[in-house]
Amino acid sequence: MASRSNIADFSIPVTDVPRTASITAAIPRHSPAERRALITEIKAELKRQDAVLVAHYYTSADLQEIAEETGGYVSDSLDMARFGNEHAASTLVVAGVRFMGETAKILNPEKRVLMPTLEAECSLDLGCPVKEFSEFCDQHPDRTIVVYANTSAEVKARADYVVTSSIAVKLIEHLDEEGKKVLWAPDKHLGRYIERVTGADILLWNGSCIVHDEFKSRALGNLIEQYPDAAVLVHPESPEEVINLADVVGSTTQIIKAAQTLPNKQLIVATDKGIFYKMQQAAPDKEIIEAPTGGVGATCRSCAHCPWMAMNSLDNLLSTLKTGKNEIHVDEAIRIKALQSTQRMLDFARSLDSPVLKHGNA
Ligand code: SF4
Repeated sequence: MASRSNIADFSIPVTDVPRTASITAAIPRHSPAERRALITEIKAELKRQDAVLVAHYYTSADLQEIAEETGGYVSDSLDMARFGNEHAASTLVVAGVRFMGETAKILNPEKRVLMPTLEAECSLDLGCPVKEFSEFCDQHPDRTIVVYANTSAEVKARADYVVTSSIAVKLIEHLDEEGKKVLWAPDKHLGRYIERVTGADILLWNGSCIVHDEFKSRALGNLIEQYPDAAVLVHPESPEEVINLADVVGSTTQIIKAAQTLPNKQLIVATDKGIFYKMQQAAPDKEIIEAPTGGVGATCRSCAHCPWMAMNSLDNLLSTLKTGKNEIHVDEAIRIKALQSTQRMLDFARSLDSPVLKHGNA
């Protein structure tokens, strides 16, 4: 497969994307009493199983609340794994999407890693299958392979570095200073953003996040006119035209931090709206406004909520805890290789004295 300009001239279609509306409609509705009973049971099971719940910012407020109230953790993917690594529990329950469970397993091989569902995917991961990615890498042996955390264990195993959005710019700057050319995968928008900021020689894989891809620059411009005093916070997985309108471009944790520290009373936010739970906690006096997408009525892709994240529910969390199903396994040879590229990132972050492990990524 050849490349044109600095982006691969092919992309892997991600088909059969579930609709967020259908996913949420299929989740059982509970009365307040039933919901309380479920939560009580989940808390008891966590204790009984010597398990700790780590939840991503994009999961439901219920799951984030349970994690917080039971000594678990709510954060981004790598920080979730780091927390699991430091926690004494023998079982980690990861509420998020599959690559997050795999990352937890890569870093915590001795622990049992469970997920509420194994069907929760990620379009970046699905759009970067290891066979095609390996072939692409083989065609560019002169490039250092840097992959975003939103990839499978196999793709991480093929990479030189795993990276998170919070230190991606610094790592690529560092590689550029060393005279290295980079092959970046899978998110083209984040890759383009890093390329613009660093000026490094980057060859991009042609993948994107179906959720962030839907933020619309023209509608965002109109919204900014409507709220001229609002700060615009954008995740760098969003299209370039949307990033160009941002006051702050940052990872999930950086967006939450900006909500806390910026003086603006109104914040327009372009990332999955699951993050609003933590943002509102961090900045209770601020008004949070959703950045516009293709339209709520269009498809699940246009509602600023990841369909796969939406698959995590109280019911499947309890079921997983009770049955021990949905355990994550990673082939040991793959895990060891994936650990090397992940460890390089951790070491690089440490060398920067960067708070990457406390201040997030994807
Ligand atoms: S929001 Fe996008 S990047 Fe995050 S899990 Fe969903 S598809 Fe993947």
